[in-house]
Formats: sequence, C-alpha cells, structure tokens
Amino acid sequence: MGRIRVLSDIVANKIAAGEVVERPASVVKELLENSLDAGATHLRIEAEAGGRRLIRITDDGCGMLRDDALLAFERHATSKLSDVKDLLTISTLGFRGEALPSIASVSRLTLETRSPDESTGSLVEISGGKILRCEEASLASGTILTVRDLFFNVPARKKFLRSEQTELAHIASLATHYSLAYPDKAVELRHNNNELLNVSPVSSLRERVFQVFGSQVLEELVDLGVQQRAIALDDDGEEGRTRTFTLKGFVSRPQVQKSNRNSIFLFVNGRLIKDRLLLHALSAAYHSLIPHNAYPFALLFIDCSYEEVDVNVHPSKTEVRFRRGSFVHDFVRDAIRNVLMESRPVPTLPVSAPPASPQRGAELPFSEFTQQIENHQLRQDHPDSVAEHPPVPIPEFTLRQPASHNPRLDFGAHGLALDPAAAPTAASGRLRRIPDTHGPLPSGVMMEPSASLEVLRDLRPMGQLHDSFIVAAGPDGLWIIDQHVAHERILFEKVLSQMAAGSVDRQSLLMPILIELNPAQQVEYSRVASELSGAGFEVEPFGPRTIAVKAAPADVGIAEVERVIFEILEIAEQEMRQTSLEEIRRQMAASIACRAAIKINNPLDAHKMQWMINALAACQFPMSCPHGRPIALRYGTREILKSFHRI
Ligand code: ADP
Ligand code: MG
Repeated sequence: MGRIRVLSDIVANKIAAGEVVERPASVVKELLENSLDAGATHLRIEAEAGGRRLIRITDDGCGMLRDDALLAFERHATSKLSDVKDLLTISTLGFRGEALPSIASVSRLTLETRSPDESTGSLVEISGGKILRCEEASLASGTILTVRDLFFNVPARKKFLRSEQTELAHIASLATHYSLAYPDKAVELRHNNNELLNVSPVSSLRERVFQVFGSQVLEELVDLGVQQRAIALDDDGEEGRTRTFTLKGFVSRPQVQKSNRNSIFLFVNGRLIKDRLLLHALSAAYHSLIPHNAYPFALLFIDCSYEEVDVNVHPSKTEVRFRRGSFVHDFVRDAIRNVLMESRPVPTLPVSAPPASPQRGAELPFSEFTQQIENHQLRQDHPDSVAEHPPVPIPEFTLRQPASHNPRLDFGAHGLALDPAAAPTAASGRLRRIPDTHGPLPSGVMMEPSASLEVLRDLRPMGQLHDSFIVAAGPDGLWIIDQHVAHERILFEKVLSQMAAGSVDRQSLLMPILIELNPAQQVEYSRVASELSGAGFEVEPFGPRTIAVKAAPADVGIAEVERVIFEILEIAEQEMRQTSLEEIRRQMAASIACRAAIKINNPLDAHKMQWMINALAACQFPMSCPHGRPIALRYGTREILKSFHRI
C-alpha cells in the first residue's frame, strides 16, 4: 500500500497559515488588503491585547454575496483571478485566495457581510477551520471581520508572539503606512478602545503625512514630487512601446539618521513590500551623504504597469520581482539623489539647549509613538537621529563621529593657533544681532533650518585647531571645518568629474611600482582593469601574479598608490555583484580622494585655508565627505549671543 496521502483541507490551511499568518499584524495586513480590494473608503481597525485577543476590521466596501460568504473560506477561492493569464497583470492586493481560510484555521473568526445588492447579509462563524454557524443576518452593507484568539490551536506559534506592546507596534506601524499609501481613505485604529490613529480622507500625500506625523516631521522630510522615467521596449518585439515608472513620496534630509531600517517603507503599486533592490537603490542615493551604518526615513511609492512587476513571489505577497530590475534601481537612486542634492543643509554644533520639552504636544509623530511603545528604553540608549542627541553643554564642541572613525588626533601642546594675518577685525565686525525671525529653537537641538552651505563663500579662516580643524568666522556664526574630510570632498568631486570626462590628471611614476596580488585580487583586477585606467592609473601585468603601476592619479602620493589599488580591488570584490559600474566609479573616486586628501595634524597657512574654503564652496555637495562624515560644524551667532546672555 502506498504511503502518500492527500492532506485534508484543515491541515493544508494550517500549513498555509504558517506562511501567511506570522503574527497579529499579518492578519491586519491581509484583512486591510481585502477591504481595500473591496473598494472601501472607511477602514476601521480594532485590536485588543496586541491583536492576540481580538482583531476586527470594519469596512464599507462591496461586501460579499450570500453564496460567496462561505466560499471565501475555501482554499484558493478568490474573486480576483479567473485565468492563469490574470497572474501576469494583478491589479488587486490579494489574488491567492489563501488569507481567509488560513486565518480561519488558526483562530475563532466571525464574518459579517452584506452586499448592497442584497437586502440581508450573512454571518459566518468558524473556529480552527470548522464552520460552526452560517446564517442570514440583518446588517449594514460592507464587511466586519472579527478574529479572536489567534493561534489558540497552534501553541507553538503562540509561544513565539512577542509582548502585547511589540505586537501592537507592528499593527500600528502597518496601519499607519497603509494610511499613507491611501490618503483618500479614512483610517481608524483603536487598541483596547483607545484611539491611536484617526485620519479623514485628504487629497494629497503631503496632507496625509501631516495628519499622521505632524508638521515637525514634515519639515525633516524632502518631498520627491512626482518623478517619472520611461523605458522604450525593444527587447521582445514590442518596438515603439514605452513603459513609464513613477516615483513619489518623502525621504529624510541627510541630517536625520536612523539606526535601523524600520523607517523605510516601500510601496509598489500600492502594496507594502520588502525589497532588497529598492533598499539598495535608497542607500546608493544616500551614499556619501550619511554614514554607512545609518539609515534614512523613506516613504516611497513606485507605480508601474502591472506587467512590470511579479507580485506572486511569496505567500505573504511582501516581495516582488521587477522585470527590469536594474532600470528601476537606477531610476529610484537617481531620482532621490537629485532631490537630495537640491537641499543642502549643514550639521550644527550640538551646544547647550533648553531642556527637551516633555512631549511635542499633539504633534508627537506617530512613528515615534509606535517606536515608543515597542521599546522605550532602546530609544534612549540609542538615539536614532541627530535631532534626538542629548544637549551637550558649552564649551564641549563634540564631533558626532565615534573616535575610531578618525585617525588619531594629536592633542599635544597645540591649542587654537590663530593666524594673525587672517583673524580678527573683519570677523568681529560680523557679529550682528540677528532679528528674531528664526522663531523659537526646536527643543533639545540647535538646528537652524535655514542653514545652508551657501554661506561658505563668505567664511574667513581665523586659524587652526590642533592643526586639524579650520576655525572660520562667517556671517552666521563660527565654523569648524575638518580639513581632511573637506579636502576629501573637494578631490572626490574633482576626480569623479574628470573620470566622467575621461581625463583624470595623472602623474607618471619614475619607477613603476610593483604590486603582488593574491588569487582573489587577480580575479578582481582583471574585472576592473579598464576602470583603473579610467581613474587615472596606468597598470600593466608584470609576470603571472604581479602588476606594475606606471602612472597614478595626480593627487595620490607615491606612498599611497599601493593602498589605493588594494582598496579599489576590495571595492570591486564587494560591489561588483550587485552594483552598477557608476557606483563602483564613485567608490573608486572616494578611495582616491581619501588617500590623496590632506591629513589631520597638518599645519595650514592662511592662504591654504582660504583655498580650501573656496574650493569647498564650489563643490556640488559640500555637506559630508564621500563616506558620510560631516565636513563642517557651525556654532550659530544666535547661540553665541544667547550663551553670553546678550539676547
Ligand atoms: P484573496 O484576497 O487573495 O482573493 P482572501 O482569502 O483574502 O483571498 O479572500 C477571499 C475572497 O473573499 C476575496 O477574493 C473576496 O472576494 C472576498 N473578500 C474577502 N474580504 C472581503 C471584504 N472585506 N469585502 C468584500 N469581499 C471580501
Ligand atoms: Mg486577500
């Protein structure tokens, strides 16, 4: 007798539930998606005990016909697909017909639904996949789905649920972000009968962001507007046809830095997804603007025709596959980067500030709220944005970089070496009382939102601190510029533009430098050999495992040549597999710039300091070094005046 048996529906549904229903928030997601697919305009989510005791979603959508109310709980029963061809152009959020049977198999579920086409509705009650009740009921049109005691019959799953607060945080985050994706819907979330979110329909995403996060967060964000890029198709005989991709949403200004990816939300055709390609595009857009280990806030909505994206990749429908992945990647990266380039804010010195007000009143951003309930302590231990750094009292000028990021500073006998030729008269004459147009300072930080590096042009160097930092007076305060990272930025932009023009300044070496490569490096070398020459190197093979460098980019010291080559080979190894050539070029330029830039602990005369400031002012993006470290800190005139009690 054979050993293979066909599993009963109940077992099959429970298995499917393992993939679809991970935690209460996944139930909320599936039910919300169903309500949206049903054309609802008002979505109400109620939860109790973090969703473990109860989840209820009430909508005013199309409801279900009597016959459908039961059918909906059959496996693979869906009103959204009829043909295999439909799978190629899925326009609804659901399509697998798995959610309701899966959820019903691991909870006690009640469905109350009525279609406007019928005068009475239906009530269906299911427990652990078994139908207990199915009867006619007098109901308003729309659907109410109540899920009680999730995982009551799957103890193993139940054990893995986190605390009520954590599960609630997931639900809150999900509801918030779906509300952002659908500004034209009213969305309500209540937990244990407390209202957590209640937004009415609005006509723009911007208004919805304001409703959800408040004006303060809105100020920290850059609106991407509507970005579009089209691709002409000629790969499959569809000549003459084009496909348009649209990107809109908000990203944070570079000074807002998060310690994890939790503030990144990606939507493709209105579907909340996780996608490595898009995450990579986002971090490439911020490359050199924020440190490697920091993440932005991002709310990205990508829209494209349904054929361009396969949503049937994973049972929970949280992953997608783009047909033209690298096109989408580059489009998203460039669009975000261009918008960021236009806003050029400066980090300022964190100096003493009024104590943080206990809460920002009604404008506590919802994301903060959800994070707070998730883990209050964590936020305090790891402040995740610059704006949340605790105030530091004067006169401790604190650089935000961990010391390990910088070469060791020599804090020997050198103090502030004022250059008499450059210094005081003009500088002191600039300290004017600033009219009170700045408004109150944000609590806890000294950010002047209007700050811009445009004022770099007017800076006047006064001297050097520890032979490492240029101290300069400007119309808007006192500036401290890290000479190494400033020079790095200047060289980076120079090398990059010369690489693009195909004419990097190079120096011929009197004696070729011989470099021995290990086998992995040899492989990488053969991949990037032509790129090396584009970056200003002249390199030839010299025996089986050795290369001879005959010329190098002009600014790189002879002693650094070998290091730069090794660094570039390493970049190639790490980046080649996932990254575009352009990204590799950027990294090569960054490596050359870093090695060629003037070091700290290096005295500069007034002339050199002025040159540095002028060259920095001419940079396209003088805000941070190619690795994301800040270049300049500013102690605003207003803070100086306040600290001296002059205002
Ligand atoms: P899918 O969404 O993949 O079709 P589900 O199991 O989530 O599968 O839902 C099954 C069917 O039940 C849907 O195709 C839809 O016809 C119906 N349905 C579910 N929720 C609702 C709702 N809130 N309003 C109207 N119809 C619904
Ligand atoms: Mg569904």
